[in-house]
Amino acid sequence: MRYKEPYTTLDDLLKILPENYTHKDRQMIIRAYQVAAKAHEGQKRRSGEPYVTHCVAVASILAEELRVPAVVIAAALLHDTVEDTPLTLEDIRSDFGEEVARLVDGVTKMEQLPRVSQDDNGERPVSTRELSKRERQRKEDLIAETLRKTLLTMNDDIRVVLIKLADRLHNMRTLYHMPPHKQKRIARQTMEIFAPLANRLGIWQLKWQLEDLSFRYLDPDTYKDIASQLDANRSQREAQIIKIIGEVQEMLQENHIQADISGRPKHIYSIYRKMQRKEKPFDMVRDVRGIRLIVPDIPTCYTTLGLIHMRWRPIPNEFDDYIANPKDNFYRSLHTAVIYSDGKPLEIQIRTPEMHEDAEYGVAAHWRYKEGRQGHDRLFEERISWIRRAMEWQDDVQDANEFVDGMKQDVFSNHIYTITPNGDIIDLPAGATPIDFAYHVHTDIGHRCRGARVNGKLVPLNTPLKNGDMVEILTSKQGGPSRDWLNPDLNLIKTTRARSKIRQWFRQQDRKKNIQEGYDILKNELRRLGLEEPDLGEVAAAFNYPTADAMLAAIGVGDLRIGKIITYISSQEENIQTLELPAADGESFTETQSGIQIIGLPQNSFAELAQCCHPMPGDPIIGLVTRTRGVRIHRQDCKNVLKVTERDRLLQITWGERRRTYPVPVLITAYDRPGLMHDIVRVLDNEHINMTNVDIKLKKSHAYIYLTLEVQGIDQLGRILGQIATITNVRDAVRIKNR
Ligand code: MN
Repeated sequence: MRYKEPYTTLDDLLKILPENYTHKDRQMIIRAYQVAAKAHEGQKRRSGEPYVTHCVAVASILAEELRVPAVVIAAALLHDTVEDTPLTLEDIRSDFGEEVARLVDGVTKMEQLPRVSQDDNGERPVSTRELSKRERQRKEDLIAETLRKTLLTMNDDIRVVLIKLADRLHNMRTLYHMPPHKQKRIARQTMEIFAPLANRLGIWQLKWQLEDLSFRYLDPDTYKDIASQLDANRSQREAQIIKIIGEVQEMLQENHIQADISGRPKHIYSIYRKMQRKEKPFDMVRDVRGIRLIVPDIPTCYTTLGLIHMRWRPIPNEFDDYIANPKDNFYRSLHTAVIYSDGKPLEIQIRTPEMHEDAEYGVAAHWRYKEGRQGHDRLFEERISWIRRAMEWQDDVQDANEFVDGMKQDVFSNHIYTITPNGDIIDLPAGATPIDFAYHVHTDIGHRCRGARVNGKLVPLNTPLKNGDMVEILTSKQGGPSRDWLNPDLNLIKTTRARSKIRQWFRQQDRKKNIQEGYDILKNELRRLGLEEPDLGEVAAAFNYPTADAMLAAIGVGDLRIGKIITYISSQEENIQTLELPAADGESFTETQSGIQIIGLPQNSFAELAQCCHPMPGDPIIGLVTRTRGVRIHRQDCKNVLKVTERDRLLQITWGERRRTYPVPVLITAYDRPGLMHDIVRVLDNEHINMTNVDIKLKKSHAYIYLTLEVQGIDQLGRILGQIATITNVRDAVRIKNR
């Protein structure tokens, strides 16, 4: 199915401009179109269409779906001119004024490729292999840097971000013109960054489109599957909805309630998410129909809910009061689900017109009614200040990749609400720990945090907090954070905010001490992984540090991740034999009939997806050896699997892309204790690491455990050994060269 651009000409655009634009506004937009068309003259999109059609499409999305002010439309028409044509910012400023110029400048700055700090100035001859690797790394850094700029713009002018989102939406709509490998990359970035960004800004209208378009390229089979099933039932479903709306309307009229009722269209990605969340196959989700009621005010929302619950039986655990407890992106509504008269579930949302505007358009609702609804303006300010607060750490993070990760973690992920002993609410990204909590309450409490009680019980500091947890931090009188907190393998902190505060603390410590700490960390990691100590000055130069000491200090305070250094060192020529290990014999990897890859099957086995439970990539799966010696792949919760009594017919398997693994011998030394091996195996299981060889020697109370692990690379090995080293009684965990 090809996407047809609805608006490509100036006339199209003029027809959909908001009615409240003045004559002057319209004149400016017409001029902006003319300037853009002339500037882009001769340039074509990949589709072959004139480039200016893209500018019109982006402006149309903003005009029709978000109804932003006219200056934004003019800027949208001109958004690619400074970057891609001879037109300068000065030209735009003198022609359209300061405001339009500033907006265009904002978009241009986001898109301009930055200088790469780590430039190779050709002094050292490099092998082609290294070059292509560096080239790839450089590309990734550029992408991260561009994203960083985009996200930072949120602090300057949110309207620039809206232009960027509309630009991305149109590029996603026309993505089929791109080569396949680019499609996947762009779709993944949209799913990971731009859809969450739209969500954080509360713009559901853009969010769902970005998600569905990305999903279509990321998992085309599932996308088509859901889409075709939806299509098959469409007319029947629509007829049902019309009937339901009539019945609900009638009931409300009897009770003198004015309601605007509509059917709720289903978006493919949200159906998929629901299937994942509820672990239900499509046919259980398919039956769910949704309607939305818009009623005049908040009391009527609750009255309406009561009437509905009295008439139809509510389904337990499906009621959510997002009016009393708005979602973390400020979404408000009542949600419920009932068993309708026909015995099937019906989902219902109830909200006021103002809540509806906010839910659909988020920050953009601010401009839709210029005459000013107090509520929208207040909410606009709240949204912006929420984002600013969540990004407070932005200046402390220099590395672009790390910045983007920080945004995903602190700003885009779901948030939970936790409570202090005084009853104050602290909102944190899902998965945050007591240390994150402590730093959110106060930096000083973070530094002095030594323990925590959650709901009255003492818990380890790496315990992920849950919604509604009451958290009490136990502090020491003085002292500072532990360097362990910065070790990503130990999961002691989740938020970039806490990380940046901890680093700040270490930065203020004695430089000598930081250098020493950094050296100890590096030395220990090299020893563990069996790597030689390289020329530290050279490594420092590769990472743009003036001296080895400067680099070691950066490691010591956590500014530079040890994993990055190790990956670099192990990729250097002289150490190459330590990376290029032979592939594990009999790679445990099979491709099924349908071309899906599965890890963990015996070699040459014949595998098929089970027809009873239809497992999809992402589902936990298990292999069942059939009577004919083939293997059926089932979901782990499939009834037919649970019935199996002969455990040896079951195979532990996972979905896989073809991944090379390397057998690496390691030695763990420990004071023996019951359960020691069990704890080690748990760490390996968590990372899905295969163990091909085990040999345990006991000498007095010491255990010497020799294992051969199948790992994917040096960074995974480092992570595993780091985790094993923290198990109680383990003295050391190192890689051994030969055995
Ligand atoms: Mn563009």
